[in-house]
Amino acid sequence: MASSSVQPLVMVVDDDDPTRMMATEFLSQAGFSVVDYPGAEEALSDLEVQNPDLIVLDVEMPGVDGFTACKRIRAHESFETTPVLMLTGLNNNDSIDLAFEAGATDFATKPINWTLLCHRLRYMLRAWQASEDLVNNQKSLAAAQRIAKLGNCEMNTDSGEMYWSEQLYAIFGSEKTDNTPTTVDFLSFVHQKDRARVSNWLNEVSTAPCTTSYLDFSVAAGCGTERFVRLQIEQVLDKEGGVSRVSGVIQDFTEKRRAEHRIEQLAYYDSVTDLPNRTLFQSRVDDAIQDAKRDDAKVAVLYVDIDDFKSVNDSLGHATGDVMLNEIAARISQDVGSSESTISRMGADEFTVLMPAITDSKEAEALALKVGQTLASPYTINDSKLFSSASIGISVYPDHGDGAESLIKSADMAMSGAKRAGKNTVLMHDDAMGEEAKKRFLIESNLRSGLERNEFDVYFQPQIDLMSGKLYSAEALIRWNSDTLGFVPPNEFISIAEDNGFIIPLGEWVLRTSCLQAVDWLKKGFPISQVAVNISVLQFIRPDFPDTVRRILQETNLQPSFLELEITESLLATDTAQAVQTLKALKNIGVQLSIDDFGTGYSSLSQLKHFPIDRLKLDQSFVQGVTTSEEDAAITRAVIAMTNSMDVKLLAEGVETLEQLEFLKHSNCNEIQGYYISKPMPANVLEQEINDVESRLDGLFDGQGNLRLAA
Ligand code: C2E
Ligand code: MG
Ligand code: MG
Repeated sequence: MASSSVQPLVMVVDDDDPTRMMATEFLSQAGFSVVDYPGAEEALSDLEVQNPDLIVLDVEMPGVDGFTACKRIRAHESFETTPVLMLTGLNNNDSIDLAFEAGATDFATKPINWTLLCHRLRYMLRAWQASEDLVNNQKSLAAAQRIAKLGNCEMNTDSGEMYWSEQLYAIFGSEKTDNTPTTVDFLSFVHQKDRARVSNWLNEVSTAPCTTSYLDFSVAAGCGTERFVRLQIEQVLDKEGGVSRVSGVIQDFTEKRRAEHRIEQLAYYDSVTDLPNRTLFQSRVDDAIQDAKRDDAKVAVLYVDIDDFKSVNDSLGHATGDVMLNEIAARISQDVGSSESTISRMGADEFTVLMPAITDSKEAEALALKVGQTLASPYTINDSKLFSSASIGISVYPDHGDGAESLIKSADMAMSGAKRAGKNTVLMHDDAMGEEAKKRFLIESNLRSGLERNEFDVYFQPQIDLMSGKLYSAEALIRWNSDTLGFVPPNEFISIAEDNGFIIPLGEWVLRTSCLQAVDWLKKGFPISQVAVNISVLQFIRPDFPDTVRRILQETNLQPSFLELEITESLLATDTAQAVQTLKALKNIGVQLSIDDFGTGYSSLSQLKHFPIDRLKLDQSFVQGVTTSEEDAAITRAVIAMTNSMDVKLLAEGVETLEQLEFLKHSNCNEIQGYYISKPMPANVLEQEINDVESRLDGLFDGQGNLRLAA
């Protein structure tokens, strides 16, 4: 349609030349543009090109007559509503009827009063414009509603009849029908669970001025998909204050709700197990503590860490690891049972359980033991059977923390304690753990810089051959004199260095330093030329460990037979086949091998036979009891007999008295080490004191290795 600034175009179709001339004349003067055609055929074929705003059509024309032409105009999509005025003969009522039937907007009778006609045309154009605007507005409203997923409705409070906009049908997932919808139809689309609530509310708002203007509920849209909507209403009141009509707008916020749900899932839930994550767990603990404060109750947190879970991931892949984590989550959930409790995944292989409102910490211990037991039973995953266990720490409010953070931390500390106590264990927090954790932290943060600042040293403790009564070797023992922490004993920092991996460079440093010392002593012709170096399990299990040993021997130029590696008995409890292979590789290099702290682990004699070792070092806890405990004496004698039969040497550690030495000598023990002969010392001090040590030995043993003082 031409805009107001452009003259509207009138198409005049009449076979009568004077009529067309008059029309052009008058209409032009009245501000219209005019195109005229003497016949309908040409006019119709030019219709789209001309795109007229108005059509004046004569009824009687040769060829295609006006009625037919009008019908064809109406059949054209772009001209369905374009005003068409038909020119009929005077008082020809039939023609008038036929004109309207053919779709004419109006008619004028000939002869024509042109001035009047111009006014009529202008009026027709204005009316058409108004109705076009209305249609367009409705269309854009419907489009806006569709985009906004917004429907609207009207409710007649007397009859219950309603009007629903198209978008409302769409929200309901339903087709529009000819029947007038009612409130009953409306309720049939409301989700079963919300129907009574919505029905009551509709009753309320249709009978009295409302207090709440909106209600959220679910719609069971077609195909059973649930949609979330908000119905917002406005009441029209009558003079008496009664409700005469209710208009409503329905907003479909399903997508928003789903997005919110997704965001919430991401922010508060773990994606592998769907359990609450750390953030949500922490806030639940906070809430539980607030409730417990009010009700004078207790709150417990269990911190569950799966033992050696890394090996599952490493050996079977993360997909299997995830399946196992889900299985673990399911087992814990089953044990916990109560919906009051929260189970969360804190990360990797760590889970937590919140027990709100308990009366006795024993309840937490009982649950922890149950969970520990459940998690220790075998797992069948992808047809393979896996074994695992968990270390569980417990903390209780108010004893071990008064906020979520401190309570969770206390449980975590207790879990670390359980791990150190040998895994597959449950441990309740105690306050000493806090101190211990602080100390561990300080040690951990000073270890690396300690090595860089040369704070470590290697001490040597002589080892004596009881057959000859002579020195033959020395055990290398690391010492740390930290600038910030003072002297830290190896028992305190070795396990921490093992936990954080620092034992690898540290152990290599000890090995190199000890080899260099052995080379130096060999050159000097020192009575001790062999060194025994402690090796952590973590060093030992690295595939490149034999290479490292070979490289250090080459770099320091030490013959392999002058080096002994001490491996703790606990190693034998791990992968035996792999251990045997590594021991053989080391043996091939030519170094000596010993099992340290023997008797404290679980290795059986039958296992030992498979290991290519030179020496067992009997743990000092037995040695120190040999003269006071019949049991320790019996064990020591048995181990000596066993090693003799296996062609393995036995060294007794921690010999502190002459009586112990005598016992060991008489029981045919091969070697000893202990304060009674010499404490561990720095290499240079040992060099200075070696004469004292040797003369001491000379006082004890005769030239043949017999004890002089022997009764
Ligand atoms: P270990 O290998 O069993 O070393 C023997 C421990 O007993 C040493 O403690 C030594 O000083 C002590 N000892 C020696 N004779 C006697 C005695 O007559 N009576 C008593 N009560 N104790 C005696 P130390 O040096 O404190 O080392 C403790 C543990 O730390 C060692 O036990 C070893 O397992 C570990 N360790 C020490 N140095 C290293 C190292 O360089 N690398 C690794 N991985 N571990 C080391
Ligand atoms: Mg040792
Ligand atoms: Mg030992």
